[in-house]
Amino acid sequence: MVSYNSPSQIHLLVITILVIITTLLTPITTNISSLPWSILSNDNFAGKLTTASSSVESASTDFGHITRVFPSAVLNPSSVQDITDLIKLSFDSQSSFPLAARGHGHCHRGQAAAKDGVVVNMRSMVNRDRGIKVSRTGLYVDVDSAWLWIEVLNKTLELGLTPVSWTDYLYLTVGGTLSNGGISGQTFRYGPQISNVLEMDVITGKGEIATCSKDMNSDLFYAALGGLGQFGIITRARIKLELAPKRAKWLRFLYTDFSKFTRDQERLISETDGLHFLEGSVMLDHGSPDNWRSTYYPPSDHMRIASMVKQHGVIYCLEVVKYCDETSQHSVDEEMEELSDSLNYVRGFMYEKDATYMDFLNRVRTGELKLKSKGQWDVPHPWLNLFVPKSQISKFDYGVLKGIILRNNITTGPLLVYPMNRKKWDDRMSTAIPEEDVFYAVGFLRSASFDNWEDYEKENMQVLKFCEDANMGVIQYLPYYSSQEGWVGHFGPRWNVFVERKYRYDPKMILSPGQNIFQ
Ligand code: FAD
Repeated sequence: MVSYNSPSQIHLLVITILVIITTLLTPITTNISSLPWSILSNDNFAGKLTTASSSVESASTDFGHITRVFPSAVLNPSSVQDITDLIKLSFDSQSSFPLAARGHGHCHRGQAAAKDGVVVNMRSMVNRDRGIKVSRTGLYVDVDSAWLWIEVLNKTLELGLTPVSWTDYLYLTVGGTLSNGGISGQTFRYGPQISNVLEMDVITGKGEIATCSKDMNSDLFYAALGGLGQFGIITRARIKLELAPKRAKWLRFLYTDFSKFTRDQERLISETDGLHFLEGSVMLDHGSPDNWRSTYYPPSDHMRIASMVKQHGVIYCLEVVKYCDETSQHSVDEEMEELSDSLNYVRGFMYEKDATYMDFLNRVRTGELKLKSKGQWDVPHPWLNLFVPKSQISKFDYGVLKGIILRNNITTGPLLVYPMNRKKWDDRMSTAIPEEDVFYAVGFLRSASFDNWEDYEKENMQVLKFCEDANMGVIQYLPYYSSQEGWVGHFGPRWNVFVERKYRYDPKMILSPGQNIFQ
């Protein structure tokens, strides 16, 4: 007969309970044994390096909420020296440990993770009293890479100045978007954000800090721009500025015909000194035409837009902006009227809005706050972003949008399609882009649930397979591959340069292991 009073039985019970608790806690337990003791006991990192489960847990996931990869520790640096010391420690160690800069953690596939290594929480570097210095005469801003673009904008606007190239959403760090590209509706005119950087400070994987620009350490400069965190941690960037406009004249036009939609887009991005912003999106038969990226259409029009979508299955929206101020407002109004007349949209489906420059740039924030209040922001995001060559975009519409997406009938959320000019990019930068003069950015920006995100994953695979089988030359933006073979194909003829640079700047393969390129 079992008696729970006997000491050995109690002992056994306690051990059993401990085993159960340990097992349950395993996913959030840190693997500190993989870190050299020299780091954990290093006085330089006292109070900055933590293995607390709350820190480790929050560094294990990201905006995607699809991966969960646990570091052994998180460094909250207060200076560039802290980061340099950490990288040096790893580089000099017999058993180097991986480490990754984490900006705002808005990647979606564990790209900012460092399995059994150290995540460097860049945001702990933000010091409200310093870190953003605007030069009025030089027309640039020097910014610590951990700042969010919204913070940069607020600061430069105080002096009537602004960066010119943006992402749709501004709560991303400077270092995070410069490691990818940074694209939006301004890219066709000003190039991606990485085309608007004058200088950077970068700590390489050897723990050496270098200032670089197109004239100084230029190979490192171009490597780090769009470099997916592989060649160094960017700590400072000097970004070009221009005089800030006051207002944005913002128009949308609906199309039922894809070729008319893309022809108009391509004509508009070929004009010099025309629009300041151009994007496009796809509307599917899923209720309200508004989504978290923008709430735009007057409620009184929702029904007739919905019925047009129902009739055609899919319709397209061209979105354009011209900046203006008090003196130019009238002429810009006239210009936009002329432009509207020249477009081939469905008459009667034109929408107009005047916004402040700030409200226009920060347009996604409203949707974010709304979703947050409903608990729908921190959900899985099985996103897929692609660059599609212009010559393939009709096939993409036919095969992917009207084929796979419409047929599966599961995709909701913003679906972007807009062109950009290749000449605004620089081949020396690391971001992989198609060869054609014009290519389209296509973004499937889905919100899913923890029950159904795998269905979207399957759809993503279908889309990628279709593009590959049809040999369309499509390249992923914010790329993710599960094998190195995928990366070799991604970079194509530029893979060798990417590898050479890795050996030059991070020979021990320490940095940003979450990109899954060199492991
Ligand atoms: P993290 O997610 O923290 O890091 C991403 C990668 O960059 C990691 O590999 C990390 O190690 C590396 N990294 C971070 N900081 C540094 C640094 N200082 N030095 C070196 N490497 C570093 N992108 C666009 O181009 N256009 C858009 O319009 C756009 N909209 C978005 C909207 C939303 C809601 C979200 C969630 C993302 C959007 N993105 C967009 C994608 C976004 O630009 C990238 O995911 C970007 O990397 C996020 O920045 P982050 O600061 O969160 O970087």
